[in-house]
Amino acid sequence: TSFGFKEVSEEEKSKMVGNVFTNVAANYDLMNDLMSGGLHRLWKDRLVEELNPFPGMKHLDVAGGTGHLSCSGAAIIVNCGLGDVAFRVLESINKMKRRGLHDEYENNLQNGTEIYVCDINPNMLNVGKKRAMERGLEGEKSLIWVEGDAEALKFEDNSMDGYTIAFGIRNVTHIEKALAEAYRQMLRIQGFHCFPCIRVLRRGGRFLCLELSHVEAPIFKQLYDYYSFSIIPYVGELVVGDRDSYQYLVESIRRFPSQDVFASMIAEAGFQKVEYENLVGGVVAIHSGLKI
Ligand code: SAM
Repeated sequence: TSFGFKEVSEEEKSKMVGNVFTNVAANYDLMNDLMSGGLHRLWKDRLVEELNPFPGMKHLDVAGGTGHLSCSGAAIIVNCGLGDVAFRVLESINKMKRRGLHDEYENNLQNGTEIYVCDINPNMLNVGKKRAMERGLEGEKSLIWVEGDAEALKFEDNSMDGYTIAFGIRNVTHIEKALAEAYRQMLRIQGFHCFPCIRVLRRGGRFLCLELSHVEAPIFKQLYDYYSFSIIPYVGELVVGDRDSYQYLVESIRRFPSQDVFASMIAEAGFQKVEYENLVGGVVAIHSGLKI
């Protein structure tokens, strides 16, 4: 490509992603804040606002890690945070309860809400759990941490009202498999794909993805490319002594499908009402879809 990216095999990608997140886990939050200037917080607020959580909701945040990192190159820029999305969902629901909204649910809401944070990397999950403790959420029964792969989720069919993935889908080896796990999977019987089997979202469930995306406006694009390819790897080296991980993250952003192509992949997985919203001129985009 014009950026001279190295081609990487699927196996190399999985290994690289594992290494990157293991290397950066401890400094994920710091790097996220440094690189995004704190903007990742506003983007996650917007994601959760769009989700519109409600008491009693069963929600799955995939690649939730510490809730802050969202690295993947974009994360570097974005400064995410492990567990950030899950914490916001919980806070939003608790605020409703405090305001006395959704009174009719009040009785079973206390026990009904379940927010699962699923991440493939135990180091990232541990950072998230630590962050939850720092927020005084260690006894919070609604928050459940699960080690697992977005491509083969351990959750039951039809079990979730919402699915979010923030700065995570870029790191998944087979994006289509992750989308199918959110929506629908075909069972394989004697070599044939048949018998659709419902996957984790229930009907009416929302899929929302926050991801570093593509900037088109010419001058802004040049500035952004300079920032991504020259400044981010340098800061990665300076702050955490790991230039390669941040170089990988930046390249992974550029390899990720454009907003329109990713929207068509979501629609191909079966989702309806697929839309996206660009933030900061496309530095990040929020894609959404509805399972009907
Ligand atoms: N969502 C958090 C945020 O916004 O700050 C963390 C995002 S972090 C940049 C990306 C996360 O994706 C890492 O914690 C990594 O372990 C996780 N990840 C990568 N591949 C995954 C997969 N196949 N299944 C689940 N998680 C995965």
